[in-house]
Amino acid sequence: MSLESAALARVKPSATLAADQKGRELKAMGRDIISLAAGEPDFDTPDNIKDAAIRAIRDGKTKYTNVDGIPELKEAIVGKFARENGLTYKTSQVNVSPGGKPVIYNAMVSTLNPGDEVVIPAPYWVSYPDMVRLAGGTPVPVLTTAAAGFKMKPEQLEAAITPRTRWLLLNSPSNPSGAAYAKAELRALADVLLRHPHVWVLTDDMYEHLIFGDFDYWTIAQVEPELYDRTLTMNGVSKAYAMTGWRIGYAAGPEPLIRLMGKVMSQTTSNPCSISQWAAVEALNGPQDFIKPNARLFEERRDLVVSMLNQARGIHCPTPEGAFYVYPSVEGLIGRTAPSGKVIGSDADFAVELLESQGVSVVFGAAFGLSPFFRISYATSNAVLEDACARIQRFCAAVR
Ligand code: PLP
Repeated sequence: MSLESAALARVKPSATLAADQKGRELKAMGRDIISLAAGEPDFDTPDNIKDAAIRAIRDGKTKYTNVDGIPELKEAIVGKFARENGLTYKTSQVNVSPGGKPVIYNAMVSTLNPGDEVVIPAPYWVSYPDMVRLAGGTPVPVLTTAAAGFKMKPEQLEAAITPRTRWLLLNSPSNPSGAAYAKAELRALADVLLRHPHVWVLTDDMYEHLIFGDFDYWTIAQVEPELYDRTLTMNGVSKAYAMTGWRIGYAAGPEPLIRLMGKVMSQTTSNPCSISQWAAVEALNGPQDFIKPNARLFEERRDLVVSMLNQARGIHCPTPEGAFYVYPSVEGLIGRTAPSGKVIGSDADFAVELLESQGVSVVFGAAFGLSPFFRISYATSNAVLEDACARIQRFCAAVR
């Protein structure tokens, strides 16, 4: 008998974590490796947030809290949605979890029955389909194209919806493509959803603050208030406030769903770390002035990476609207021969050969459900990015 359950056997380990791990191992063996695989900001948590956590420890805020979040953090989240998204929620409509990941998983496990479908535009964040599978549901990927800016068209959504569709999982700006839906594009998707009242929407707005140029950020419940009663608007402090290790994510939505998610937590994780919750209160209520300059910094890095990758033979790199990823195509390299003498048959082969030959670790597109592409996380210094992109150019030049 297998130790692994049938449900877990249907799940793949996270490809992004695996690629990052492989890079770390090679580095530990003394190889000169640049890892562009992990998705976390390279700057430190701001001091005011750290100080709030230290105060919380000294004040003895070190005990169990309400399972789905302290009232003070829920108030701060209500304030954030009102201030930044024009969305009105009560604290009873808010869930705080140990990271954005569990918010999504708890929503899925609370609501999915075997055979229930979840529509997921591809390329998607690696964890979505596996969280759906683990929760007993069936992921239904909708393949977008680089030509359409990696965005799902309304007719594609319409075609993907069946009587078994439970959720649409939206992510804007997207991990891995950086694509963000403009208001009019969300409007068109909302029009489809209005025709299918049994479909709920989970919008993962984790990269909301990493938006470039004059892009005007909207979230779907704000665009179409009629969807408010079946939308879970999810966000977190991990990316915007450089708090990936603190493990705080949150969401707001209809009370019955929020109660179910709390029920799951009551029998699994219990509350998110009390100290991190107090730090998150400060993150949301404290100064926000570093967010915009930070986004400008990421925009410069995006421009550097897009320009250098487009100079690599066989690679085409679209310009994303947000997040800190690019998702270039390697179509021009497929079927060609790498410096090792091996034929590049897929984006996975490309990633392996690039790592072997130039020591650059990236994540192959198949992990995100759309090939032949790869993802680069550019949340690192210009010097490292220039070095990495120059290595990619050298690799491409050596491909025959
Ligand atoms: N959603 C997206 C799109 C992400 O890229 C990530 C992290 O990489 C998360 C959610 C999860 O965030 P957290 O680290 O808070 O669990």
